[in-house]
Amino acid sequence: MRKPVIAGNWKMHKTSAEALAFFRALKAAKETTDVETVICAPFTALPALVEAAKDSGIGIGAQNMHWEEKGAFTGEISPVMLKDLGVQYVILGHSERRSYFAETDETVNKKVHAAFAHDLIPIVCVGETLEEREAGQTKQVVGQQVEKALAGLSSEQVKRVIIAYEPVWAIGSGKASTADDAQEVIGFIRKMVANQYDQQVANEVRVQYGGSVKPDNIGAFLDQPDIDGALVGGASLEPESFDRLVTAS
Ligand code: 13P
Repeated sequence: MRKPVIAGNWKMHKTSAEALAFFRALKAAKETTDVETVICAPFTALPALVEAAKDSGIGIGAQNMHWEEKGAFTGEISPVMLKDLGVQYVILGHSERRSYFAETDETVNKKVHAAFAHDLIPIVCVGETLEEREAGQTKQVVGQQVEKALAGLSSEQVKRVIIAYEPVWAIGSGKASTADDAQEVIGFIRKMVANQYDQQVANEVRVQYGGSVKPDNIGAFLDQPDIDGALVGGASLEPESFDRLVTAS
């Protein structure tokens, strides 16, 4: 049985003080054991959150990192630095990073390997644009992103990856995918993993849906056989809404 993962992606929101106030106000998310709960915060809020989340069962993640351990990479944060803070997860290859910061499948793959080298769980984002969907290229685009992101990983590593299928047109638009459409793409991702690795790996890898997930639509996604949770932006920013996402799961 795969445990669903509900992860909040705060993007560029919340100071440390705001992050702490959010965390103090959480209730349900701290109590659940049926769902893996993660908050992915800006770098500057991570130390405060890691400290606050100790023994709460809530995991803390970053939203990006460089693949090198150190070096002349002005403005970057390394996996060693995240590990040093006690961070457990890292979002990699979010579509906002791909489109605004020129991330490629190749750099995402390097980051995924770096995450495993430092015992961080990668949440790897994939998803097609509206143009690609309308051109009937969804599976081709998503398939290639998944294949390239996971290239060179062992079966044991792939089992620990969290893949987040986030159609770009559904992010922040209020227009979520239908649960059936998301299931179709996520089922396809799982089949791909079965072909590239084996059925056991495919049975264990967790694949989330992301894109305009709210407390009132999350249930429909989680009812699907292949959808193992959600990566949530806007609706993860308020403690009451985040608690509702977790209790609805
Ligand atoms: P929204 O939930 O705000 O659509 O954002 C989704 C997302 O990009 C999560 O990574």
